[in-house]
Amino acid sequence: MNLILLGPPGAGKGTQAQMMVERYHIPQISTGDILRTAVKEGTALGKQAKAFMEKGQLVPDEVVIGIIDERLRAPDCNAGFILDGFPRTTPQAEALQAILTKIGKSVDHVVNIEVDPEELVRRLTGRRTCKNCGGMFHTPFHPPRKEGACDRCGGTLYQREDDKEETIRTRLKEYERQTFPLIQYYQRKKLLRSIQGVGGQNQIFEQMIRVLDVRPV
Ligand code: ADP
Ligand code: ZN
Repeated sequence: MNLILLGPPGAGKGTQAQMMVERYHIPQISTGDILRTAVKEGTALGKQAKAFMEKGQLVPDEVVIGIIDERLRAPDCNAGFILDGFPRTTPQAEALQAILTKIGKSVDHVVNIEVDPEELVRRLTGRRTCKNCGGMFHTPFHPPRKEGACDRCGGTLYQREDDKEETIRTRLKEYERQTFPLIQYYQRKKLLRSIQGVGGQNQIFEQMIRVLDVRPV
């Protein structure tokens, strides 16, 4: 199963992707995670991406396309993959198509997670991340047991630079301008399945499974 998760920042793509990984044992490929790791490690890729990410802007297409081109060739993608956060622009979607054709694969489904913009701002501003293990919490929705500390490892929680309100506005604008057109793009290809990204994680996951028409294993 070769899957794309589409949706605005804060729609819960990452959470849903992780739930898919656990159930179907296919890898999650998150360009956001790959880029954040590169920034943290200070690699050449990280240096290229850092300034864009901190401002909430998209990293240039050629950079992320290069990442994906390499990643999709790895043997663990043979049974399928879940793309989370890629493609985000029309040129990225076209490049993906070309890469997949080259390696004899194609996209099976594109799941679009819909959430209204005000809800997104509320979700994103409350998000807190563990410095140590990357665990995610949320002040109103999923607070840690002890304020400021990670439930899993006790690490310090912080607000990601790109989760600050002004940056969030930029990210949402970037989404509207560059990523939203992909909904139509995949609709035309008859690959799009839309679900409502409201309610609990499990409810959203059930909708996912329903539109994908796959049985839980
Ligand atoms: P979110 O979906 O919550 O905005 P991500 O973790 O997916 O967060 O992405 C964080 C940042 O990484 C983006 O704001 C952008 O700067 C960069 N990024 C991730 N994926 C892409 C992509 N496909 N194209 C361009 N930039 C990307
Ligand atoms: Zn932690």
